[in-house]
Amino acid sequence: MGAALLASWPWDNLGFYKYLLYGPLVGKAVASRAWEAASPDRWILLLLLLFGLRALTYQLWSSYSNMLFATRRRRVVRDGVDFHQIDKEWDWDNFLILHVLMAATALYAFPSLRHLPLWPVDARGLAITALVHAAATEPLAYAAHRAFHGGRLYARYHSLHHSTRVPQPFTAGLATPLEHMVLGSLMALPLAAACAAGSGSVALAFAYVLGFDFLRAMGHCNIEVVPNSLFQAVPVLRYLIYTPTYHAIHHTKKEANFCLFMPLFDLLGGTIDPQSWEMHKKMSAGVDEVPDFVFLAHVVDVMQSLHVPFVLRTFASTPFSVQLFLLPMWPFAFLVMLAMWVWSKTFVISCYNLRGRLHQIWAVPRYGFQYFLPFAKDGINKQIELAILRADKMGVKVLSLAALNKNEALNGGGTLFVNKHPDLRVRVVHGNTLTAAVILNEIPKGTAEVFLTGATSKLGRAIALYLCKKRVRVMMMTLSTERFQKIQKEAPAEFQQYLVQVTKYPSAQHCRTWIVGKWLSPREQRWAPPGTHFHQFVVPPIFGFRRDCTYGKLAAMRLPKDVQGLGACEYSLERGAVHACHAGGVVHFLEGYTHHEVGAIDVDRIDVVWEAALKHGLQPA
Ligand SMILES: [Zn+2]
Ligand SMILES: [Zn+2]
Repeated sequence: MGAALLASWPWDNLGFYKYLLYGPLVGKAVASRAWEAASPDRWILLLLLLFGLRALTYQLWSSYSNMLFATRRRRVVRDGVDFHQIDKEWDWDNFLILHVLMAATALYAFPSLRHLPLWPVDARGLAITALVHAAATEPLAYAAHRAFHGGRLYARYHSLHHSTRVPQPFTAGLATPLEHMVLGSLMALPLAAACAAGSGSVALAFAYVLGFDFLRAMGHCNIEVVPNSLFQAVPVLRYLIYTPTYHAIHHTKKEANFCLFMPLFDLLGGTIDPQSWEMHKKMSAGVDEVPDFVFLAHVVDVMQSLHVPFVLRTFASTPFSVQLFLLPMWPFAFLVMLAMWVWSKTFVISCYNLRGRLHQIWAVPRYGFQYFLPFAKDGINKQIELAILRADKMGVKVLSLAALNKNEALNGGGTLFVNKHPDLRVRVVHGNTLTAAVILNEIPKGTAEVFLTGATSKLGRAIALYLCKKRVRVMMMTLSTERFQKIQKEAPAEFQQYLVQVTKYPSAQHCRTWIVGKWLSPREQRWAPPGTHFHQFVVPPIFGFRRDCTYGKLAAMRLPKDVQGLGACEYSLERGAVHACHAGGVVHFLEGYTHHEVGAIDVDRIDVVWEAALKHGLQPA
């Protein structure tokens, strides 16, 4: 296509350093003490404030758009926002840098504008702004937009804006510099007119610009927020204000609904999509959607609670790690935790599609530490039970319990719920059969001996029984001879000799394969010989103190390559990977298994689910 003029951003390669472009303005504002009322450079401070608020407007709409628990019934395009789109829209705020440069240039060219009064916003100023917006900005934007849909201009410029699947507030920023220059100039017209008429003020400029951004972000938010009853009551309104549905139709169909904010111009130009009103009615009423599969997660801790698409979409699209910018948000997130403890129920966090079926991730509103408080136990089980019953009523096929939600001590790996509600149609799954399979398949062929901690837990027992049948000697670390013997007796007589009870870490000082199901202190890790690999199924994972050893991550699998609309990382896992228990639930659903997978692991099924997972395209992560 060649490099078309103003089709890409000159600071594309600067990455985060593009924000240094604000530097000269910030520097000048600081140098001239712009916050003092008498400063001649106060306009710079006001300009920077305006652009901060502009960015915030888009961010708040993005957060709202991603609050699936509140908005999913009114989603216009029903796909999830995938990593590809998030990356493409990563630099959505480039246009704000451009607009700040344009505004600063204008303010340098016309010094009188720098001394606009802060107030008032009078009726005359508002009337002029509204009039010029409707008489000039709207029709010119409409004409420009239609022109940008013509052959060459579309290919070189506007196709970018249409290149992502699901309209999002940040999609409003996804356009070429040329388009944003046109838009910026059109935004300036009403304000220039008001100033020329002597009615300009800083407050009027803020109101118009932020109102403009509000409407642009709203039109791209993909959630129908304009009630149909409003159009029923005042029919003419539908030509004065567009809706997210209206603009979503433009994004998908491309040959109708071109207007900026006022469908009146599509009416005049004969370009209204005939289904616009019907579809708006439907979306505003809301459409239910039933997931086939639900992964019932919980919050890990206060920091991790910020790792969700409705806080920061980009942050949630990368593996979780503690970041400096999270610190200022911590107190707020802490209050949210307290509030949720008092009043909340399980809610939808994110979703994706696999082979035409909707999968959702729900979160029990409880944090990791709460699972270790004895008095919180009943409350947590009540939350999980309500979520299972809700899923059952909705028609969910499989619900898989994440991490601590299937804790043995809490509810017997889900047994509690299945026994209490024998008529459940939804299948409750702990997914640990696949977790065991992933861990076992990580152990190199030919391993003769392993050391196992957490040996009498659900996973420990299954791993021990599986390995002994492969004639691998398993040193089971447990102080309880009774529990050890119970497991040993489950093994066929000829393999029982491969299960050995050990009670002290020094017993493992010559074993290079440690399978860790229980927290290990640095002192305990010291007993491992150099070169040991620590496999893990302990939550939370152990700290890797030993430089001369290697540490495995929690068992995880990559979802099949044809997964759609996946745009959030599951905790610290890489993009596209999910914890093995999540994957186990997916396999349970894809295979159409009719049993609940709760309580003890059926050792004979470990190879069965592993083969099934591979068959469906899941891969070890
Ligand atoms: Zn658009
Ligand atoms: Zn377009």
